[in-house]
Parts: sequence; structure tokens; C-alpha cells
Amino acid sequence: MPRAPHKTGLILFPAFDWCISPSHPEREERLLYTRDQIIEEGLEDVENIVFFNPELATFHDINRVHHCVPSAEKLLTESHLISAGGTLRAARAVMSKEVEKAFAIVRPPGHHAMQTVFGDRGFCVINIEAIMVEYIRRHYGIRKIAIIDTDCHHGDGTQDIFYNDPDTLFISMHQDGRTLYPGSGFLHETGGPAAEGYTINIPLPPNTCDEGFDMVMERVVMPVLHEFQPELIINSAGQDNHYTDPITNMNFTAQGYARLNRLLNPDICVLEGGYSIEGALPYTNLGIILAMAGMDFSQVREPDYDPSQFIQAPDMTRYIEAICDKALAVWAKRGPRRREAEQRRVVTKQKEIFYDTTGFHVRENTAHHLCPHCPGFSEITATGRNTHLHAFTVPFNACRHCQDTAKDTFAATMPVPGTLIALQDRIADIYETK
Ligand SMILES: [Zn+2]
Ligand SMILES: [Zn+2]
Ligand SMILES: [Zn+2]
Repeated sequence: MPRAPHKTGLILFPAFDWCISPSHPEREERLLYTRDQIIEEGLEDVENIVFFNPELATFHDINRVHHCVPSAEKLLTESHLISAGGTLRAARAVMSKEVEKAFAIVRPPGHHAMQTVFGDRGFCVINIEAIMVEYIRRHYGIRKIAIIDTDCHHGDGTQDIFYNDPDTLFISMHQDGRTLYPGSGFLHETGGPAAEGYTINIPLPPNTCDEGFDMVMERVVMPVLHEFQPELIINSAGQDNHYTDPITNMNFTAQGYARLNRLLNPDICVLEGGYSIEGALPYTNLGIILAMAGMDFSQVREPDYDPSQFIQAPDMTRYIEAICDKALAVWAKRGPRRREAEQRRVVTKQKEIFYDTTGFHVRENTAHHLCPHCPGFSEITATGRNTHLHAFTVPFNACRHCQDTAKDTFAATMPVPGTLIALQDRIADIYETK
């Protein structure tokens, strides 16, 4: 019986009974071909590859991260709770040392889900990585976590949730937002006032090849991780950078994904996008699994793979080199924006969030109440689909004073008909609404 050098857990959940519509690219077949490939390659008979069933995430796990409007109970199906629960099972398997690494191959995906949730955007309702991160912090006391998003789309939801958290390093490499949904993820999006430089975006030009991704890993991701020294590395392992993906324009290969994973050496992978159901997912997922397990992946090849098609033009390589330099400069300037924090000011930001599945906008205002001792608490007011939200979040790393101030402000906020008023206190681990 072959043996994997690194004991690796797999959680596979195709969510048979849930899809946006039967012909939608985000559907159950996405994972069925991967499952067949895993069986065909004999991974079930490899010593040290262990299969786990996903569990159900609880509404408590969801409310630790999101403000769901009108409520998590009303927005979510069982498939969402199992997809999130798949990541929690992966986390527990790794944290309790049942395995060294784990890969949650689940759907529906999550990285476009922001802190406030009014519905479905970019095929995502709840952010399954973020729910896992705060679960790990809550149950295992881990502080510094890095999330590397290798999906072709900008991980705008994950960025939003951790934007002001200097204990979460978020790096997203993706097809340039000027050419692809969700149209964000530019170099100037660098983190909130307490976490300047802890969000790093690497927008890549359409048709970037393996060579470009290798360059980003070697020049930016690995040196930044080395300095950040996370206790845990998570890979949002979207596979829609693949050259066969029908909704994107990149030239990444299964070999490229496997090599990226071997270099990154993540503790936990979570599947995100990837819509080339037969042409990519069985091979990219297999490559990632073999890399995680420390096994030989040199034979993993797409049936139509022809390396001569994927040679990156020299001017594109120079362009990506320049992007890498700018991304490193973002990291070099990291730290809180001290002046704002020392004056204990409130920093506000407005944005409009588009929910593309049903087509409506949410207007949102975030106020960061700054503190010299911690990232401070945040206050969000949002309006969409005739419902209002007024929410307070105490992050896990807030100081006692900020926690008390948020609690007092919530208590003093008068109930208004048609407005959900919420307190999310990640230190006390409570979610209260009125
Ligand atoms: Zn990404
Ligand atoms: Zn994607
Ligand atoms: Zn504070």
C-alpha cells in the first residue's frame, strides 16, 4: 500500500441538492468528477490519506463572523451549513493533530461573502474560510493566520472581513479587476487603519502562465509569509485560473497549482471557484492533494495539456515583475496609520455592495473606532432591499475598553422598526440582536 509522507485529511461534499440553477456553472458536478478521479487514482488506498465527513456549522459559528440580514436562519440552506461545516471539520482534524494537513473540497464557495450578508454574491452567501478562521481562534487560541487566495477572482469578501485585522495576513492573487468580476483587488487596497499593509492584492494580467504565478509566489508570497510568521497558513484554493476555465482568462495548469501548493505548504486548503468541471478540477484537485500529502505529482497532466501553448511573453513577465515590486512595497509600509490611531479618531468608509445573483445594491458605511491599544471595534450601518442594519463588531483582539465601549453603545442604541441592531462580540463569543 503506498504511503503519504504527510498525513492528509480530505473532506468531500458535492452538495447534491443545492444549486443556483441547474445550468449554473457553480453546480454539484464540479466535485463529482474530482471524486471519480480520487477513486481512479487509488487515493482511498493510500496510507495516511484520511477521509472525513463534513459536519454542520451552527448559526453561532456563522454569527461569529457575519451580520446576516434579516438572519442567518432565513438566508441559509443546509448545504451552506455543511459547506462551512466541512471547513470546520478540516480545522479540527488539523488542530487536534488527527492529520498534518486537510483539504475541504466543498461547495457552495465563500470568498465573495462579506461581513454583512443580505443574499448571494459571486455564488457565495457565507464566507467559509472566515468562519473557519474565527472558529480556530475561538477554540484553539491561535492568533496569527495567513490566508492566501489563489482563486482567479479577487477574494473581496475575505478582504472585507479581515480588512482591519493586523493578525490576519490576506494575500489575493487574481485576474486584474478591470477585466473580471468582482472588479476589485487593486494594489491600493492595503488594509484598514489598524492593519495597513496586511491586505496585499496582486492583480495579474489575463493569460498569466505558470511562470507568472511562480514569480508571485517566490518574490512576494513566500518572503512576506517568512516575515509575518503565521501560526497557520490557509489556502483559498480556487481553481479557476486554469487555462480551460469557461468564465476566466488565465493560463495556469494542474502542474502549476501543485507546485504552488508544495511551495506554500498550507495547513488547510479550502476549495473556492473552478468551473472547468471535466477539463481542470479533477487534475488541479489531484495535484493539490498529492502536493499536500508530499507525494509525487509529476504525472498529473490534463489530457489536452501542451506546454508549448503556455509560454509567457517577455513583456508580460516584466509587467508581473513590476506588480510584484509594488506588492512588496505595500508590505514594507505596513503598520497602523499611527496618527489616526493616536488621536482616537473614527475612520469611516462608504461602499456599495452589489448582489449579482438577484441583482440589488447595499449601501454600507463602516466606522472604525480607533484605539492605540488594539484594532478597535467597528460599527456598520447598511441598507438594502428595504432592510436596515446597525451592527457593532468587537474583534477577537480588541482591548477591554473597546469591548466595553461597543457593548455600551449597542445597549444605548434605541430599537427602530425595520432595523436590525446587532452586537457581535468575538471575545465573549456572543451575538445579540434587537
Ligand atoms: Zn484570489
Ligand atoms: Zn473564482
Ligand atoms: Zn482598544
